[in-house]
Amino acid sequence: MFKRKDERQVLAEVKKRKRKKIIKLRKKQGCMTEYEFIHFVHYEAMFVCFACGRPYGPWKYEPEVKPTYPESITAEYQNCYCKKRRRQKKWPIFDFNEIVTLCYCCGQEVLKSGSRWSGWFCEDCKESVVVLNTFFQRTIIPIGRHSMMHGYHLKGQDIHDKAKIENYAANVNQLFSGIHHLDKWRKRIIKENFKLFEISKDISLVDYLVWASKIPTKLVAFHKMCSFFIKPSGRDRLGHHLQKIQKVIK
Ligand SMILES: [Zn+2]
Ligand SMILES: [Zn+2]
Repeated sequence: MFKRKDERQVLAEVKKRKRKKIIKLRKKQGCMTEYEFIHFVHYEAMFVCFACGRPYGPWKYEPEVKPTYPESITAEYQNCYCKKRRRQKKWPIFDFNEIVTLCYCCGQEVLKSGSRWSGWFCEDCKESVVVLNTFFQRTIIPIGRHSMMHGYHLKGQDIHDKAKIENYAANVNQLFSGIHHLDKWRKRIIKENFKLFEISKDISLVDYLVWASKIPTKLVAFHKMCSFFIKPSGRDRLGHHLQKIQKVIK
């Protein structure tokens, strides 16, 4: 028990150091990415739901985040998908009421969410997924909910072009079924992680992350996710690609 408390403190210190580094870096160049901004979200009072695999509970921004708009929020309560709570109004600035989620591939990392542009994968898994999609030259596994993240868009002048509209609709349909399938995988991998930790009830998000950090690799989850996506007939081809992908990744 005491050991886990130490590990929580270590994580909090690492997070604080990262915030300092990011602030210094972003004063000089560019905007913060969502991978950086997650360190400015205080999610330490949240839990992970055993039933749906979503984080839930109260959150706030870390003190370094200063409200920039009059309507911006600094603290809220995130619902998970299965526990019925009071209906919420949409949070200002957010596209939907979700501040954090767990990586849809490995379930080992916490990610910033809430924007239609938010990505679903941690940096390691995203790299693998992008390489996979590039090999197949189409979106096998969607990286986020917005069709433009996958290069699918229809220009104004295409509105009378039947072939382009049909092609766009086919791509978007395929994307939606991919999103649906990915959500099934997300639930499955988080269940598998809970099983690894020998836990069968909701747990604190920080404890979940401490345990998840001990899983030696994310590549096992990535391989399993690929098998979940590719039909048995395509698995030989996939195996061949995975070998190549592994060389590209590391
Ligand atoms: Zn739930
Ligand atoms: Zn991941």
